[in-house]
Amino acid sequence: MPKDSYVPQIDFKGSSEGSIFEEVNTGPPPKLHQAGRVCKKDGCNTPLTSYNPNDHCYTHQREIDRAKAMNAPRNKKKAS
Ligand SMILES: [Zn+2]
Repeated sequence: MPKDSYVPQIDFKGSSEGSIFEEVNTGPPPKLHQAGRVCKKDGCNTPLTSYNPNDHCYTHQREIDRAKAMNAPRNKKKAS
């Protein structure tokens, strides 16, 4: 038999409606982080959501990011 005797995939269009989405829904849950955490900043007890990948609340994480940016060598102007 010739190799091109495959079943055309076009025939399945519409017949298996929603199967792709079902696969997504039954797949592994979205990457969540431990719930019930609070901001690690001293004196700050802001609860962190499971969607927050950081150890700090939004406000303090911004401060940390800013501090990091300040400390990080931005550009090497004194190279020469
Ligand atoms: Zn905080």
